[in-house]
Amino acid sequence: MGYEKIWKNNEKLNKTELVKLEKDGLEIFKDIPNYAEKGFESIPKDQWDLFKWAGCYLQRPKEDGYFMMRVNIPSGILNNDQVVTLANIAKDYGRDVYDITTRQAIQFHWLRIEEIPDIFNRLEAVGLSSAGACGDITRTIVGNPLAGIDPHELFDTTEIVKEVYEFFQHNEDFSNLPRKYKMSISTNKQNASNAEINCISFTPATKVIAGERVAGFHLKLGGGLSAKPYLAQTLDLFILPEQVKDVAIAVTTIFRDYGYREKRHLARLKFLVADWGPEKFKEKIIEMTGPLEAKGTDEDDTWNAGYFYGVNPQKQEGLNYVGLNVPVGRLNSNEVLELARISKKYGNGEIRNCNSQNLIIPNIPDHLVDELLSEKIFERITVHPKPFIGYSVSCTGIEYCNLALVETKERMRRIAEFLDEEVSLDVPVRIHMVGCPNSCGQRAIADIGLQGIKMKTKEKGMIEAFEIYVGGTLLDGGKFNEKLKGKIDGEDLPGVLKQLLIYYKNTKQEKETFYDF
Ligand code: SF4
Repeated sequence: MGYEKIWKNNEKLNKTELVKLEKDGLEIFKDIPNYAEKGFESIPKDQWDLFKWAGCYLQRPKEDGYFMMRVNIPSGILNNDQVVTLANIAKDYGRDVYDITTRQAIQFHWLRIEEIPDIFNRLEAVGLSSAGACGDITRTIVGNPLAGIDPHELFDTTEIVKEVYEFFQHNEDFSNLPRKYKMSISTNKQNASNAEINCISFTPATKVIAGERVAGFHLKLGGGLSAKPYLAQTLDLFILPEQVKDVAIAVTTIFRDYGYREKRHLARLKFLVADWGPEKFKEKIIEMTGPLEAKGTDEDDTWNAGYFYGVNPQKQEGLNYVGLNVPVGRLNSNEVLELARISKKYGNGEIRNCNSQNLIIPNIPDHLVDELLSEKIFERITVHPKPFIGYSVSCTGIEYCNLALVETKERMRRIAEFLDEEVSLDVPVRIHMVGCPNSCGQRAIADIGLQGIKMKTKEKGMIEAFEIYVGGTLLDGGKFNEKLKGKIDGEDLPGVLKQLLIYYKNTKQEKETFYDF
């Protein structure tokens, strides 16, 4: 692509921008076979960051040469061959670790450069890719994990997500964006894709056009978490299903050409939207797409945060989807292979990832439900989890992440299990733990958000500690949680949370949720 506009609209470019101008991120794919042949030592340090465009980060400590790889899973939907392939990659190369992310993707760890070409081949053979799963590019598209089977969807979004994904996938016209760029396309009426925290979201809507009620989308822009979280704003537009791709291209083009590239921490789309406002943004989109209808009626009426536990009827009569808990989103490869076997035996082989880091097995006929539920694996990967382990989310943390300040995943799991022993509640409380302000674990929308920090104490020196935030939600337009005073030693965190939850239990009304409290 020509970079004239990037130069024209940004007099000063940050250091990362100058690197990206010299070499497009996606070009790393051409170098990887050569590096794989010659070994990790052959990769110049100034090329390490470009691996993100191939979905790979060097895990902590970088010098050891182990990669994390994220694989795009649009809407989180996987067929049986894909699940088996992913499980075998984790088994053969990833020390058995299979993580589900808060954007419905899969992450591997412990990969060596020598192994990456074979992993790419295996992914390609089943129609998967890690291209653009990280980096300043369109990331994996979040969607409705129940697309096509959802009794609560306005219409099936499978083909639209596929069309948009395929357009942006490995597209060098859009591989140099100012920062990461997160898209969601869903017509689930329970806002299962967390629309308000995406850069660009297509949400379910209807409008009467020429006397007929037509189904389509509204457009929300400029959401995002990290250190300065923003909720997306709705534009005065109604978008027909066949216009989604063009509108997505228009917004992405605007971000590419007008997004900020001077200060990296101000480069996300949310800052441009906040400065321009929805009206100016709308005008700019229409300049590119031609006329679009004005806003109609919102068709999402609640928020389920991506939780689908239990056995639930599909829109297809006689079929069910089974929502399962994966504690803090981590499975081992044998568990994934077993779930794939079960899904093939009782359903159509699919497994679907939720942004709550959990799973769905769809297409189970009524008469097979009891037999399916008697399978041993569902003792750990349960259909009806206890309330704390069932509603706990955790980012990767210090185990692998270079930016982390504290350990998260194991800690979150231990705390949730402790709370399930110590506190009984009649409603779930969503607890999200993150290892730094980047908020990959979506701390800001949790009932209780736990953010890791380093803290210096007289007795112990530098320790892992936490800030506690309460009251996040995406209901009623959304509200980020607010920080409580003080910092808590990580070792004291279980006890402090227990006290907080007992106070909540003793003062709340029956069935009153944390949000209503
Ligand atoms: Fe790493 Fe921070 Fe993201 Fe956790 S929130 S995975 S610590 S960058």
